Amino acid sequence: MKSLYGIAIGSLLLCVGAHAQQAAAEKFAIAIHGGAGTIEKSSMTPEKEAAYRAKLEEALNAGYRILEQGGASLDAVVAAVNVMEDSPLFNAGKGAVYTYDGTHELDASIMDGRNRQAGAVAGVKRVANPINLARMVMEDSPFVMLAGAGAESFAKSRGVPMVDNKTFDTEERREQLERAKKKLDEENQQDKDYRAAVDALPAPYRMGTVGAVALDKHGNLAAATSTGGMTAKRYGRIGDAPIIGAGTFADNTSCAVSATGHGEYFIRYNVAADICTRVAYQGKSVAAAADEVINQVLRPIGGTGGVIVLDAKGNIALTFNTKGMYRGSRAAGQKPEVAIFGH
Ligand code: ASP
Repeated sequence: MKSLYGIAIGSLLLCVGAHAQQAAAEKFAIAIHGGAGTIEKSSMTPEKEAAYRAKLEEALNAGYRILEQGGASLDAVVAAVNVMEDSPLFNAGKGAVYTYDGTHELDASIMDGRNRQAGAVAGVKRVANPINLARMVMEDSPFVMLAGAGAESFAKSRGVPMVDNKTFDTEERREQLERAKKKLDEENQQDKDYRAAVDALPAPYRMGTVGAVALDKHGNLAAATSTGGMTAKRYGRIGDAPIIGAGTFADNTSCAVSATGHGEYFIRYNVAADICTRVAYQGKSVAAAADEVINQVLRPIGGTGGVIVLDAKGNIALTFNTKGMYRGSRAAGQKPEVAIFGH
């Protein structure tokens, strides 16, 4: 009798456990960013604001649909990033900023939270969607990061079509380069703080690195980041976006992060990994960990930017220490939420 009782209670508990697991597994979410910086309502026309909002929502929904249908978080982050890479509004793919020499050099990286597999490309000039190439590096090569001409040879060997570097030309970004160069010349600091020079330009011309983090129904996290880097960069400068642990990080046991901002700081402070380490080792929430790193570590030393963070329970943090960050999130069963300016 007693053992029958035990079996009954045991099965009941199993049943409840399975339900809880199912509920947890049904939890899915996606968050995106389209760059952080001096983004103010006063410096943006209503038309431009509407265009940004619409594109952010389109990117969010592209990823959300995949998650909703039970697809993988890796597919969701790539789909979201592709929408923004294909838009001239963002500093990634089509709308990439110019280098000092008047060309475009693109960086991207992706990470799989299941197993810490990662792929990255840096300084590519002829690939329309660098995030897809980063994924190929992860899934179809023994390497993590490929740069420049070598990355393009790899792309060709995998059948990726090459595009002319001029594909990424846009009038707005060209004007931004001219202004940045003028500012650098005026201050005679070509080799010095070009971010400060670029920051002196009117918003929103200089922003727009893109990124996405997602949690799928199987409980897997992924993160992706893609960028044209910083206006007037030179000498093959590479920022944080293609660096695993700096601009991108994902591990199912802690969190997924995509960053945007002044890359040199994000590299030196290992920002994306630091946030997830605080979650893993200190039991911090993603909101607390992101706030500590962005506002308490980076802000005092002048490191401007922001992050989107997501954990395996579906908790989301969209944290930045700048005036604004193009951003959005959508959790299972919820409507998409997009925002641009600070709180
Ligand atoms: N993090 C990018 C870089 O340093 C730029 C940005 O996000 O605005 O290349």
